[in-house]
Amino acid sequence: MQTVQTIDELKQIIEANKNKTIGLVPTMGYLHEGHQALLNRARKENDFVVASIFVNPAQFGPNEDLDRYPRDIERDLKIATEAGVDLIFNPTPEEMYPFESGITIQVGELSTKLCGESRPGHFDGVLKVITKLFNLVQPTKVYFGQKDAQQLAIVETFVHAYNFPVQVVRVQTVREADGLAKSSRNVFLSEVERAEAIHIYKALTLATENWKQTKNVDEAIAVGKAHIEEHTSGKIDYFEVVTYPLLQQVSEHADQLLFATAVFYEKARLIDNILVDIKEV
Ligand code: AMP
Repeated sequence: MQTVQTIDELKQIIEANKNKTIGLVPTMGYLHEGHQALLNRARKENDFVVASIFVNPAQFGPNEDLDRYPRDIERDLKIATEAGVDLIFNPTPEEMYPFESGITIQVGELSTKLCGESRPGHFDGVLKVITKLFNLVQPTKVYFGQKDAQQLAIVETFVHAYNFPVQVVRVQTVREADGLAKSSRNVFLSEVERAEAIHIYKALTLATENWKQTKNVDEAIAVGKAHIEEHTSGKIDYFEVVTYPLLQQVSEHADQLLFATAVFYEKARLIDNILVDIKEV
């Protein structure tokens, strides 16, 4: 496995592999089994696998956890080697953003819902880095986790609307044995919070079960919220049910519903979701 930090080196290696299918896995590092699932899938489906490890300042707000975001590049390189990654791109922020162009990408409507409400500008920052990575790596396929459902919906819409020549592959959420979605931010939980955090997924499960029986979105949300409030010290940021991937108010015409929540703990904000296929209910 090769590791490069500069755009010039990355371009040279991509040029040398341009006749191959290229799978790209964008990450912020501190890799866990969720990331590994993306890497394994990319390994299976492509000749050449590139993973980026970059804690993207553009997607963090002023009061968010950019400075203390967990990092362990040595461990990440070991995990990526074991997953059969061919190339790690691990640039500095200065390498990625050497000058301010003054030109921005604005997500608009899709970023006003769910996480977008408490993280203004977050998804604009995601698309900023994704656009650069697409142009630099020119991947055949790019891999994203369902765990970050709104990010996935926005990337899919962006790719479709602007004709990026890449196929977006959705990878299901990988969970701990007790149901908690794997996340780099789980290390910020205290022991008590970690034990409580299993109730996030339980609440989502209860809400989906309730909806399947009642078809009443408000009641399902109330059930989910009540479960989190009763079983954890975390503060609910949102608990919502929207159509997927447009993230709109639930209507009869939707194919999929997204049950999504975000919960603040002392040092971490955790998100999770369940996607329900309406036709299979
Ligand atoms: P991050 O490093 O948090 O930016 O995540 C990089 C990619 O890994 C994103 O596409 C995430 O959706 C995906 N990912 C993170 N956690 C999980 C998980 N538990 N299961 C599946 N994919 C995940």
